[in-house]
Amino acid sequence: MSFTSLGLRPELVAAVTEKGYTEPTPIQLAAIPAVLSGRDVLAGAQTGTGKTAGFVLPMLQRLSAREGRAPRALILTPTRELAAQVAESACYYGKNTNLRTQVVFGGVSERPQIDKLRSGCDILVATPGRLLDLVEQGATTLDQVQMFVLDEADRMLDMGFIHAIKRVRTMLPKQRQNLMFSATYSDDIRNLAGNLLTNPVGIDVAPPNKTADKVEQVAYRVPKDHKRHLLAHLILSGSWHQVLIFTRTKHGANRLSEQLQRAGINSSAIHGNKSQAARVRALEDFKANRIVALVATEVAARGLDIKELPFVVNYELPNVPEDYVHRIGRTARAGSTGQAISLVSPDEVPFMRDIVKLLGKDIPALPTPQFDIREALVADPPRPPLQPRGAQQGGGRPSQRGGSFGQGARRGGPPPRAQRRGG
Ligand code: AMP
Repeated sequence: MSFTSLGLRPELVAAVTEKGYTEPTPIQLAAIPAVLSGRDVLAGAQTGTGKTAGFVLPMLQRLSAREGRAPRALILTPTRELAAQVAESACYYGKNTNLRTQVVFGGVSERPQIDKLRSGCDILVATPGRLLDLVEQGATTLDQVQMFVLDEADRMLDMGFIHAIKRVRTMLPKQRQNLMFSATYSDDIRNLAGNLLTNPVGIDVAPPNKTADKVEQVAYRVPKDHKRHLLAHLILSGSWHQVLIFTRTKHGANRLSEQLQRAGINSSAIHGNKSQAARVRALEDFKANRIVALVATEVAARGLDIKELPFVVNYELPNVPEDYVHRIGRTARAGSTGQAISLVSPDEVPFMRDIVKLLGKDIPALPTPQFDIREALVADPPRPPLQPRGAQQGGGRPSQRGGSFGQGARRGGPPPRAQRRGG
């Protein structure tokens, strides 16, 4: 199947061909004809599946050519990074058309965005809060919107955007096409879809366990206070040149990034408290291999488009198993392979069991390699002194046996035997 046979016009096919896409991904195969037909769509698909082109290409085709100043397509995304990336994709895919795309999001000054909106656009990509601010100031109007897209709807609800979405909806014309993308389906998502969509085409191309299949997933059992030492060891001994590391909190991301830096590993943190400029810079440094480790929180990492990321580390496990799938979806994109490594402390074993259950396959716990307790990582004023069991400071620790998180493992509480064998 080619892009042409899906009904896309030559100027759009030329743009994706130039981008190096040889054939449509499964979500594109299903979504492009559905969107072209004018139907509402509810798609279960996560970042990494090619969903952006799945809705942007037919959108460009339906909008056809520049018209007026008010946007005729509105794409809402949960994060600034995703908004920026979707807009970038829309500009690229639309490069052989005269359609204009603008993007607005919070965290940067409003003035330039107001000016951009006044100059007009056909497609507007926005995060909900900033969009409402700007519309309420009269910078633009949504009454010409014919196509409305909710991207990563599940994440929007997680981030508390439901009221903003409802408000935006009241500003849209009644007659319009609605597209909703969500990586997961909860009751809230089904309710939202029920309210928003009319007789939608349902598309489900990437159940979590399918996307996760391409990624080699392993785990190490390691006490919390040893995680940073093991991580530094893995990065340095494996000569990793690009690793995305997830922490649970912004503070944790900053601290780990500083610690790695002190251990001689070039690193940067990316999270919601950082300015947009700082986040963009960190991402660019990472893509250009100027930094080795990018430490991110879940939300900040949503929508990051980093090609062929070789390593993703779950420094702390997410308590929502679906988030694990989102995280590891950062690696092994578009056909390449990657490795996802989880550092599992005893209190996190229950999270790991939930993840294994969702995936429907076990994640092997590898024997923990011998690693040094690095002075640079120990010297960290706010933390209580390290008390390694079975290891002296600077002396390394004995290796642990691996094991399994799958069936047979007890639910809840700390692992009865931290070094189970086999599985
Ligand atoms: P998305 O899920 O939209 O974030 O896209 C994930 C990645 O896949 C992006 O880097 C796209 O550039 C890439 N991509 C999208 N469609 C295709 C395709 N048909 N062939 C190869 N790569 C693609």
